[in-house]
Amino acid sequence: MNFHVITLFPDICRTYTDASVLGRAQKTDKGKGAKVRGKKISVHYYNPRDFTADKHKKVDDKPYGGGPGMVMKAEPVLKAWDKAVGRKKDKKKVKTLIMSPRGTVFTQELAKQYAKKYDHLVLISGRYEGIDGRVKKALKAEEVSVGDYVLTGGELPALTIIDSTSRQVAGALGTHESLEDDRITNGESYTRPEVFDYKKKKQKVPQVLLEGNHAEIDKWRSQ
Ligand code: SAH
Repeated sequence: MNFHVITLFPDICRTYTDASVLGRAQKTDKGKGAKVRGKKISVHYYNPRDFTADKHKKVDDKPYGGGPGMVMKAEPVLKAWDKAVGRKKDKKKVKTLIMSPRGTVFTQELAKQYAKKYDHLVLISGRYEGIDGRVKKALKAEEVSVGDYVLTGGELPALTIIDSTSRQVAGALGTHESLEDDRITNGESYTRPEVFDYKKKKQKVPQVLLEGNHAEIDKWRSQ
């Protein structure tokens, strides 16, 4: 799965995608036990500022019809998209998402679908008042929201989608992180030590987890 992020702030995103599980998934896996060899994902960044033609590298302008704030100009975003996936022949394998608080709400189910259906996911991150509406039409893009609240930019939403979609890509999770989608229903987890004092109160691990009776543990977890 190849992710292409169009953002005015690639550096803040790269720090996240280069770390931990996502960082490892971008490297060639030569490990003997690796089930799926090679890179599992790639993440590429495109800054609309690099696709401007004027000397001030202007990426935003005032909204038509009036109103507060600025709007991201269409052309630098469209040129960035062309650079990312414009030459891909099989457009059915390319999906373009525009981060927007007004979009379809992103879910685990969508993450699974993206991982299954597409080879290239383009994530367009807005700033200011959003992106010129013609971008959506020109690219036949879909607007996606990560929840019912408004952020200052689309970078966190793009990272959220990359993160959870990557978990659905075969072999992207290491042997230590297993893909159990019902894990959220598995209850709380505990690790060592068995007991510690916090503000003069003993904090203990639930007894059932210490007894090694797996049927009982499963029952406890499902509760
Ligand atoms: N008044 C604007 C708000 C823009 S917020 C509007 O109604 O669209 C600035 C940018 O942050 C947006 O263009 C979008 O890319 C991103 N953003 C903010 N909240 C978001 C959310 N909940 N989900 C996805 N993207 C969001």
